Amino acid sequence: MILAALFAWSASAAATPMTIAAVPVEQLHGRGAAVPFAEYEAETARFDGTPIGPSRRLSDIAAEASGRRAVRLDRIGQFVEFTLARPANAVTVRYAIPDSPSGSGRDSTIGVYVGQERVASLQLTSRYGWFYGRYPFSNRPSDGAAHHFFDEARQLLPRTLAAGTRVRLKVDGSDPAPWTVVDLADFEQVAAPRPAPEGAVDLTRFGADPTGRRDSTRALEEAIRAGQRTRRPVWVGRGIFRVDSHVIVDRVTIAGAGPWYSILKGRGCGLYGKAAPHGSARVHLSGFAILGDVRERVDRERLAAIGGSIGGGSTIRDLWIQHHKTGIWLDGPLDGITIENLRIVDNSADGLNLAGGAANATIRDVFVRNSGDDGIALWSRRSADRNVTIANDTVIAPVLANGIAVYGGRDIVVANNLAADTLTEGGGIHLANRFHAVPLSGRIGVHGNLLVRTGSYDPHWRFGIGAVWLYAPDAPIDAAIDLDDNELVDTTLPALQFLGESIAEVQVHGLDIEGAYDWLQVQSAGSARFAGVRARGLDHVGSGRCNASFRATFANVDPALTKAEAGLCGALDPAVVDQRLSR
Ligand code: CA
Repeated sequence: MILAALFAWSASAAATPMTIAAVPVEQLHGRGAAVPFAEYEAETARFDGTPIGPSRRLSDIAAEASGRRAVRLDRIGQFVEFTLARPANAVTVRYAIPDSPSGSGRDSTIGVYVGQERVASLQLTSRYGWFYGRYPFSNRPSDGAAHHFFDEARQLLPRTLAAGTRVRLKVDGSDPAPWTVVDLADFEQVAAPRPAPEGAVDLTRFGADPTGRRDSTRALEEAIRAGQRTRRPVWVGRGIFRVDSHVIVDRVTIAGAGPWYSILKGRGCGLYGKAAPHGSARVHLSGFAILGDVRERVDRERLAAIGGSIGGGSTIRDLWIQHHKTGIWLDGPLDGITIENLRIVDNSADGLNLAGGAANATIRDVFVRNSGDDGIALWSRRSADRNVTIANDTVIAPVLANGIAVYGGRDIVVANNLAADTLTEGGGIHLANRFHAVPLSGRIGVHGNLLVRTGSYDPHWRFGIGAVWLYAPDAPIDAAIDLDDNELVDTTLPALQFLGESIAEVQVHGLDIEGAYDWLQVQSAGSARFAGVRARGLDHVGSGRCNASFRATFANVDPALTKAEAGLCGALDPAVVDQRLSR
């Protein structure tokens, strides 16, 4: 407590450092999604509370925090104070509060203060967090193994706060939760609401209720039909529109005043393309939020914000997607879609998944946080995803599985992304012939990505999963895989891993590793060429080449890194695991 107090009060009044995934923004060098907010970690702000973390242990709250650290507020009056580096009129706070004893969740608030003035209250809840037991998890605390602690609350502020303003998140007497963990705050300057496009079909003309009290599903369906008939865009104006089921979209544009102003909300709320194989085309969605109400993961339920099959030159952009099972889950065959500038947060399963037969698709500037499974995934079930680019996206704190996962497919590019803080059964980037996917083929390029604190320990295998892991359990991997100029920072266990039957023809060109248990863990047959590997801060300098038939060639690699070290292949010593997960 004394150390905590010293830390709290020694911070200067200078602006709180702006980071993404606890990485200073100037060190991102263009990797990750372009985002409209400035992010500030609680643990590097001024605070009167208890810092928690670091930890990477499943069921530790800090392990799910951005940067693996956060601040816990236990008493009335305690606070986290951010000094704004840029003006802002809106804030999003990532937080955790305790669950209710029944598991159904509790509600709370926290004050947003400028000086003595409470300028806003954030509504907090644990309804969407706190999963228990084994996959696919329950809402019963008696099942133990609690995880998925965090949620996010966003709020428009009554005025713009200037750069230099000190903003406190403070517990006061009207805030009932016994404790509140603050992970970070995203402050942003939200633009004024956009006007309706000329001639647009206004949802409210069909009886939609912008107060969110009455169900507006039928009104939305009728507005879409009118838009299709007259070839005019559908306008979702300011307000909260309750939509309690899926609405089918095809050959229609739906636009809103901006994701802070125009909100579709409801437990089953979703915009779905027609069912594959005769999916929708020319769908254009932009400028609104789709807020679900999914409180636990039930895999048989189809509860995506955007689902079905959508292609044919469609675009999905500038949306805020929160509290669904999956943010976007599209079934192929589909050809031609651009998905960009989205925020997808707090889902019970994947952030975004193109689930087979998606061709000519681009996913860029998508920001995913707190997904309950892979952040962004391509799953080539039944037919291959092909010609897909995943570029300049950010995935932070998926509470299960990977940042970005490519399960089979042909001609895929994963470039200039940022993934951070994976928790369990996953790494930063995963390439695999797995889950009965059509095997990887053609050229698979993984370029220029930044992976921070990724990888994990697998308690069943009892060895580490790599920050980048290639895995061939169903079929050998023999696509032409290029791993170029990737940077792996503070990796949990192995940096680069080959696992499974056989993985051949991999070309590694430029790999920068700063901190890992070991840099290479080969647990498969196959072959790879490693050129220009730089690694620092390793517990083991040699490479774990555990399959004698794997052919590794090295060029421009420190000979110390190439020396095979047999001890890196089997089950890890529990003391080693404990030490690696205490960071
Ligand atoms: Ca944090």
